[in-house]
Amino acid sequence: MKLLMVGAGLSGAVIGRKLAEAGHTITIVDSRDHVAGNCHTERDAETGVLVHRYGPHIFHTDDAEVWDYVTGFESFQPYKNRVKTTAQGQVFSLPINLHTINQFYGRTFRPEEARAFIETQADTSISDPQTFEEQALRFVGRDLYEAFFKGYTVKQWGMQPTELPASILKRLPVRFNYDDNYFFHRFQGMPETGYTAMVERILDHPGITVHLNTSFTRAEAGDYDHVFYSGPLDGWFDYELGRLGYRTLDFERFTHVGDYQGCAVMNYGDENVPFTRISEHKHFAPWEEHDGSVCYREYSRACEPGDIPYYPIRQVREKALLAEYVALAEKAEGVTFVGRLGTYRYLDMDVTIREALDTAAAFLAHGTDVPAFVKPPL
Ligand code: FAD
Ligand code: UDP
Repeated sequence: MKLLMVGAGLSGAVIGRKLAEAGHTITIVDSRDHVAGNCHTERDAETGVLVHRYGPHIFHTDDAEVWDYVTGFESFQPYKNRVKTTAQGQVFSLPINLHTINQFYGRTFRPEEARAFIETQADTSISDPQTFEEQALRFVGRDLYEAFFKGYTVKQWGMQPTELPASILKRLPVRFNYDDNYFFHRFQGMPETGYTAMVERILDHPGITVHLNTSFTRAEAGDYDHVFYSGPLDGWFDYELGRLGYRTLDFERFTHVGDYQGCAVMNYGDENVPFTRISEHKHFAPWEEHDGSVCYREYSRACEPGDIPYYPIRQVREKALLAEYVALAEKAEGVTFVGRLGTYRYLDMDVTIREALDTAAAFLAHGTDVPAFVKPPL
């Protein structure tokens, strides 16, 4: 069979590898000049620091099979994501934890005291929070919401938290102890030689041929028995029903001698600071030593044609359009839509790999009868 994979990100690499190991030959194309998609890492020419070109990527998962998979291709260094935020003239610890609460209110609460205090701040009249704002008011109250979430969210999403779903905030925990690990997951780490080196190893199989700087168009699909497509779902259909909304990011690079901010990620909660966060990339690889430092200010804005789509918006309008594209996709022959763009979902790397493994397994079980979506996007 002639198989094509569009995209050499994690979706493309993992599906390609599994199919190649099962004896298939597979061609992988990517329009970029590198593999690894959005988790691409490269050495900064000036400082030598390993940079995450499309924004900071920290690997975290509870899925032991996915952890075994990545550690089979790369050695991971222990890494805990410890994020700080500058808000209202002070630096606080995120996610909101006992240190944040005590510092913010100038108190010395123990865990149960803090829990009881926050309950007095919370709006308990909200029983079933629907919006981001309701979720925040219900669980942390107005003061913490306005300091840490409101301004940041307006900058990140370009809309009021009253218009956003509660699910976005549910990604962040509130802790009544001093645990400042951003994630709950059992397995966390950073690839020692970078994500791109890891993906290169995944792709290093005689059954796989990779063509970089190669854009795919739908007209080419007929040359293959089956196509796995990790590009944008609406792009497959030449945007014929309109564009699915995304936020894009602009990164403003600057360098510094020594240590600029003392941590990898500093968020900025105030709405009048135009960027959402600054990443100082040498702190993502604390086992390396560099005198120089390279940092990126991150600005979020609406994604226009030609911009890189980063965060799917998935509001009511987009979901309605998504449903129309899904209906078209389910009628399309010979293609399976995968990954964060192909299914128009925010997917962490571990979920992307899990779904890629499942997609390859589905293809190996059903051949070209594999459905358009192994994981439905709605
Ligand atoms: P992608 O990485 O987007 O790869 C798709 C590839 O397809 C791209 O290389 C693209 O060039 C190519 N392509 C598209 N269309 C075409 C075409 N027509 N022809 C040829 N090639 C094409 N996850 C975490 O687990 N931890 C994190 O800390 C984390 N941080 C993130 C930070 C940001 C700012 C963002 C946006 C995402 C973050 N993620 C994180 C998610 C992570 O980036 C994704 O899970 C992962 O990149 C998805 O891989 P993918 O292969 O599906 O898509
Ligand atoms: N958020 C916030 N303040 C912060 C960090 C996050 O208000 O300091 C909100 C913001 O709306 C963001 C959401 O919480 O989109 C989820 O945060 P996360 O850190 O998971 O964002 P991501 O990694 O998706 O950029």
